[in-house]
Amino acid sequence: MAGNISKKLLSQLEAGFNNPYWQRGKEYYQEGLIGNIIRDGDVIRAESYGNSTYRLEINLKTGEMSCSCPCGFACKHLAALIIWLKNNKVTEISEMENSLKSKTKEELIAMISQMVKANPEVSAYAQSMDKGEVGHLIKKLWFPRPFDEASLFRKLDFMKEAVLKKGIFKLKSDFLLKLVDMRDHYVEDAMDAFIEEYLREVFRGKLSKEEKKEIRDIVEEYPFEWWGAQKAYNAMSSSRHI
Ligand SMILES: [Zn+2]
Repeated sequence: MAGNISKKLLSQLEAGFNNPYWQRGKEYYQEGLIGNIIRDGDVIRAESYGNSTYRLEINLKTGEMSCSCPCGFACKHLAALIIWLKNNKVTEISEMENSLKSKTKEELIAMISQMVKANPEVSAYAQSMDKGEVGHLIKKLWFPRPFDEASLFRKLDFMKEAVLKKGIFKLKSDFLLKLVDMRDHYVEDAMDAFIEEYLREVFRGKLSKEEKKEIRDIVEEYPFEWWGAQKAYNAMSSSRHI
């Protein structure tokens, strides 16, 4: 089956891989460990599911590739994604929007209700939750049962959006503390990468001196092993006075 991305571009991307990684990528692809693949303009986003869940991105315009795994570049996950793209047609967000447009209001309501039931965090999009409700969701947040990494990170993504959207520091620090607590129970690179990404977004917003200190105190409690948070923190400290 021919994919909908130029073969030439995919071959160019393939050239950047060492053979062992490419071969591992083939196995990953064959085992069906690549999913949630979507095209948003020039950017392809996907997830890979092995021992950990990683998030992948390929920019079709610049050829830049990134993966949240420790290797991060030209890894087996990205190889698997390129092989997937060679063999399948990726859905574009605009196509998905078109198919949503053809649904009736009742169908859409039923769909969103289903999503909210499966992930209460989705309600952050469906209704405007107040501070107390977001705070309550943070308190309740824990590993999904039955446990699966993809739904854990979907849950965390929804929560992150809800917390950042509110722009209230107390919620931001409560969420960070919850992530630290969860990380204590689940030491995985993907969790570190999530915390790093979250902190970078927190630092992008305006923080007062006291708020920065509070974040610093949380991060510095884990100076050696907590590399993701440490990296985000160091990037912020070097760019802005803290
Ligand atoms: Zn990777």
